[in-house]
Amino acid sequence: MKMHNFNSGPSILPQEVLAEAANAIHNFNNTGLSILEIGHRTSYFEAVLHEAQQHVKSLMGLGNDYEVLYLHGGATTQFMQVPMNLLDANATAAYCDNGIWGNKAIKEAKLFGNVAVAASSADKNHTYINKQLNIPANSAYLHYTTNNTVEGTQWHHIPDTEVPVIADMSSDIFCRPMDFNRFSLIYAGAQKNMGAAGVTLTVIKKDILGKISRAIPPIMDYRKHIEADALLNTPPVFAVYVSMLTLRWIVNNGGLVAMEQKAKERADLLYNALDAQPLFTPTVAREDRSLMNAVFVLPTPELEKEFLDLCKQQGMVGVKGHRSVGGLRVSMYNALPLSSVQAFCDLMTDFSNKHA
Ligand code: PMP
Repeated sequence: MKMHNFNSGPSILPQEVLAEAANAIHNFNNTGLSILEIGHRTSYFEAVLHEAQQHVKSLMGLGNDYEVLYLHGGATTQFMQVPMNLLDANATAAYCDNGIWGNKAIKEAKLFGNVAVAASSADKNHTYINKQLNIPANSAYLHYTTNNTVEGTQWHHIPDTEVPVIADMSSDIFCRPMDFNRFSLIYAGAQKNMGAAGVTLTVIKKDILGKISRAIPPIMDYRKHIEADALLNTPPVFAVYVSMLTLRWIVNNGGLVAMEQKAKERADLLYNALDAQPLFTPTVAREDRSLMNAVFVLPTPELEKEFLDLCKQQGMVGVKGHRSVGGLRVSMYNALPLSSVQAFCDLMTDFSNKHA
C-alpha cells in the first residue's frame, strides 16, 4: 500500500522522480554505469549539475549576477556559513526571530558578530509572524526564515528593507513565484520541496561577497566554491541528481505558478476542514498560516493519541507534531497529491462525528 506521506522532511517526492532515480542506480542514461559510480568531474555529472543550476536560475528568474551552489552540511551549516562569509566581527546583522530554526541561526551568527533582533514572535510562542521590523540602518544583512516548519507560520510577503535580504527557504522553496531578485542569498536543504536529503542549495548574489576581513577556510568560503565552478570538492552526486530530477519535474509540471496553485488547493482544503471541526484547532494566526505545514491540536493528549493511532491504521505518516511544540502537524509539500489531503480531511470528519 502506498502511504499518505505527510512527513515534514525528508518528505514525499514525485513518483516519476523516484522511478527515474531507481533506474539511474542500475544504469545511468544508458552509460552502463550506476549514478553512484560516476566521477563528479565527468561530463556525465557536469551535465546533471548544470541542468540543476539552470532550472534553479530559470525558476527564480535570476541572471548572471547570481551563482547557484550545491553544498554539504544541511541548512544548519548555512546558519554558520552565512555570518562567517558576510558578517565582520564588529558589524551587525539583523535577524527575525520567528521560530526554532531562525533562533538557531541567530545563535550561530552571534559567534561571528553582533545580532540585532529585528522582530520576535517569542511573546506568543511563535504562533504568528511579527512583521514590524526594526532593522539598524548599517546592518550587513537581514536574515529571516520564509516558512517556519515547526510552528506552521509563513511569510506571505518579502520584508521591505534597504539592507541585503537573506532567507532560509528550506521548507517552502519553489512552492510559489516570488521576486527572487530581491534576495542577496537564499539557502534551503533539498529534502522537502527539491529533492532527497544530503545536499543544500545556496544561491548567492555575487556582489555581497568579499566585503569582510575574516580569514575563511576554503571549504567554507563561498568565493572559493564559485571560483571552482561549484566543484570545489566532491559533491553528493546522487543527492544533486535527485534534486535535478525534482527541479525538472517542477518545470515540466507548470513551474512555480502551478506549484502555488496546487499548494493553495491543498491548504484551502485542509484549513477549511480544520475550521469546520470544533475538535481540531489550528494554533497559528490565520493570516500567517503556512501553505506547507499546518499545525493544530486536539483537546486532550488522549484524543491526540487516539487520532494518531487511527492515522497510522489508515497509512498516514508524519502527522505527529514536532517534539518541541507537540500537537499535530500535516506537511503538504509540492509532491503531495490533493487526494491525500482529502483522505486526511475525511478521517477528521469521521473522528469528529464519533466524538460528537
Ligand atoms: N531551516 C528550516 C526552516 C528547516 O525546516 C530545517 C530542517 N527541517 C532546517 C533549517 C535544518 O535543516 P538541516 O537539517 O538540513 O540542517
